[in-house]
Amino acid sequence: MTMRLSFLPRLVNGPFDDPSLFIPFFFEKRAVIFDLGDIYSLSSRDILKINHVFITHTHMDHFIGFDRLLRLVLGRDQDLYLYGPEDFIKNIEGKLAGYSWNLVQNYSNHLALHVTEVHDDHLLTKDYICQNGFLPSSKAVKNSFSGRLLKEPFFSVFTRVLDHSLPCLGFTLKEQFHVNILKDAVTGLGLEIGSWLKEFKQALFNHQNPDSEFEVKYGEEQHKKVFVLGDLAKQIALITPGQKVSYIADVVYNKSNIEKIIDLVKDSDHLFIEASFLEKDKDIAEKKCHLTARQAGLIAGKAKVKQMTPFHFSPRYQGQGHMLEKEAIDAYNYALKQ
Ligand SMILES: [Zn+2]
Ligand SMILES: [Zn+2]
Repeated sequence: MTMRLSFLPRLVNGPFDDPSLFIPFFFEKRAVIFDLGDIYSLSSRDILKINHVFITHTHMDHFIGFDRLLRLVLGRDQDLYLYGPEDFIKNIEGKLAGYSWNLVQNYSNHLALHVTEVHDDHLLTKDYICQNGFLPSSKAVKNSFSGRLLKEPFFSVFTRVLDHSLPCLGFTLKEQFHVNILKDAVTGLGLEIGSWLKEFKQALFNHQNPDSEFEVKYGEEQHKKVFVLGDLAKQIALITPGQKVSYIADVVYNKSNIEKIIDLVKDSDHLFIEASFLEKDKDIAEKKCHLTARQAGLIAGKAKVKQMTPFHFSPRYQGQGHMLEKEAIDAYNYALKQ
């Protein structure tokens, strides 16, 4: 059986550099990104896969990569969806106002930014079309909000408003379910593994009628066989719970944050969590509204996440990254056993 993952999140930089978590999907040419720190080490090819951008907060180290992204999508057909905390619309408009756009009305491509600002109980969305010089197309549209930011056939993204001396978002990406392909069953039916499996998975994620026909084209000679989708699924697919990946950056260690984070990231397969300071420098962490490695580990353990990656280390610990990692892992193991 192939337990191939549908997506594999990776930090764009090392733990001492600006934060960004890049999540490419394997069966589609697309990706989402959590935070836009320095993204120069991401290839243009990877950056162009990004459709959805989720920003925890607009401190410079989490948002400076916006310009790089915009530079690459300029002149392309692209709808870019950006989500961020209170004042995000103002921040995006500030970025856009920093450049001159007098020639873009001649572009034949359609580039639009759809910007959503997250508040505790509502969302505000504004659209910006490149050909209009990125002037907002209308006033902000208000929608109610109860935790789910994005729902697609394949995955959802959830968020909570956390506290980092300013509103700061935590994110969870959850796959609806996971389709494992039973290779032996595929060959047992006289079929070959191929790109048709992508379409097959898409059909399942789109909840296509199980009684509908599904055509399999395989092999170099493009053989064709027609199946009933539901029958084929029963024979070659094993459906398991989807992956859950969470991202927490820049939060103060207080009761309300701890509760909200645990509620959001509970049972994640992988949690990326900031661990800026060592516990011995707890006072500085508190003043700067960051977590210590121990606090990050305790949260991860209490939330029973399966894997934890601490990151966003303060530069004062250059060369001592292993100490932050160890402190976080020890606390995680301790809290897991409680
Ligand atoms: Zn930061
Ligand atoms: Zn910050």
